[in-house]
Amino acid sequence: MYTSITKIKEDVLQCHKCSLGASRKNTVFGEGNVHARIMLVGEGPGRDEDELGRPFVGRAGQLLDKMLASIALTRNDVYIANILKCRPPGNRDPEPEEAAACIGYLRAQVALIKPKIIVCLGRVSAKHILGQDIRIMRDRGVWHKVKGFWIIPTYHPAALLRNELLKKDAYKDLLAIKARFNELGE
Ligand code: SF4
Repeated sequence: MYTSITKIKEDVLQCHKCSLGASRKNTVFGEGNVHARIMLVGEGPGRDEDELGRPFVGRAGQLLDKMLASIALTRNDVYIANILKCRPPGNRDPEPEEAAACIGYLRAQVALIKPKIIVCLGRVSAKHILGQDIRIMRDRGVWHKVKGFWIIPTYHPAALLRNELLKKDAYKDLLAIKARFNELGE
C-alpha cells in the first residue's frame, strides 16, 4: 500500500514487471493536479510520450488540451495517466498480461488522488477500468458508479483526429463531465 505518489513513481521508474520495460525509452507515469477531482485515463504512451516521459504530448494531447478548454478546464485542474506506463511497440493494444502487471500502479494513483470522476479515454482504458468488454460507440457517455467513483467512457482524442464526425458526441460527453463536476462541488 503506497503512501505517496512519489513512491509509486520511483517504483514505476525501475519497473520491469512486463516485457515493455525492456523496450521503453521512458516511463510515462502521469502528471497533473494530485488534488484533482477529475482523472483522465488513456491506454498507454505513444511515440511522443515515450520520447518525453509525459502523457498526451503529441497531436492527441494538443486536442485533449482543447477539449478541456472547451469546458473551461486546464491540465492544472485534472490528473492524467494511462493504463500502461510504458509504450507498447507500434502503439498496439496492451496485451492482457501487460495490463494486469501495470494496472496496480494506476489503482495506487487513484487511491491517493481520490478523484470524484474518472474519464476513460477510449475503449482499452474503459475495458480495463470497468472490467467489461466495451464498444466505445455504444458505451461512451454512460456513467458508472463504482466504489464511490463516477466513471464515464468517452472517445480517445486520437480517435477524434482520425474521424472528425465523432467530435459532436465527444463534446456531449465533455458537457456531461462538466455538469457532474459542478454538481459534485468541492
Ligand atoms: S508497462 Fe507497467 S508493468 Fe510493464 S514494465 Fe512498464 S511500468 Fe512495469
